[in-house]
Amino acid sequence: MTDKYCLICGGAYIEDRRPGLLSCTACGFISANVDLTGEQLEALYSEKYFFGEEYFDYELEKESLEINFRARIRTLRRYMNVAQGALFEIGCAYGYFLNIARSSFRAASGIDISKDAVTHATKNLGLNAVAADYLSYQVKQHPDAIVMWDVIEHLPRPDLFVEKASADLSTGGLIAITTGDISSLNARLRGKNWRMIHPPTHLHYFSIKTLTLLLEKNGFEVLYARHPGTSRNLRSILYIVLAMRLKMGKLYDRIGGWSFFDRSISLNLGDIMFVIAKKREVL
Ligand SMILES: [Zn+2]
Repeated sequence: MTDKYCLICGGAYIEDRRPGLLSCTACGFISANVDLTGEQLEALYSEKYFFGEEYFDYELEKESLEINFRARIRTLRRYMNVAQGALFEIGCAYGYFLNIARSSFRAASGIDISKDAVTHATKNLGLNAVAADYLSYQVKQHPDAIVMWDVIEHLPRPDLFVEKASADLSTGGLIAITTGDISSLNARLRGKNWRMIHPPTHLHYFSIKTLTLLLEKNGFEVLYARHPGTSRNLRSILYIVLAMRLKMGKLYDRIGGWSFFDRSISLNLGDIMFVIAKKREVL
């Protein structure tokens, strides 16, 4: 046992067999065993985060990200009238999603903790975004959809974000979340080496079960929970595999410039989940 308690159900955490992780004895929720201050957290998401540390090169990934974003908007269309809806994105980063979404939704705005990223989104792309902590931010109007793409795993208190999102949404509004699925076959086969396990940037590891628990606890009903494939830029995959994993930076320098790698490919390891839930009407 540890002195920490599960953010979802309040159960006791024990050390997981994967080093550095804790698992809830009651609901199975997995968290990283780290404590970060607000300053340490903000420092993690400096410009270095987007260019080199976690992403190979965010600009290079732009085209593949846009393919993924368009697919997500198509999925959202099944559950809401996108053209009449106001969208709010938590963790909008450089604004690549908002830039696509603003032509589909009636209104699109966002928030991110990274000042560098939000400056790019507002100054270079002319988007409606603010650099602030969502938990202390007052939304101007109740959005019809709140999206969090690959964000919830980064949050020290995802429970508070989901609670606030539920309060901020219009009645019947949607929350849409993508994150790794630690109960997926690939995550279980990879064990401690699963590529999504990297504290301190990834602090919490959901499964469809634990994410559903958190959403239901906050007044949501899950409408959609799947593992769609994602597009990636081939050059950035090459960089991750050759330069970062295999430490063959020289080989990467030789072949990385080939135009062959200048394309997006679709990957599906079945371990990234996409969940859409609807805020229940209060009777
Ligand atoms: Zn729990």
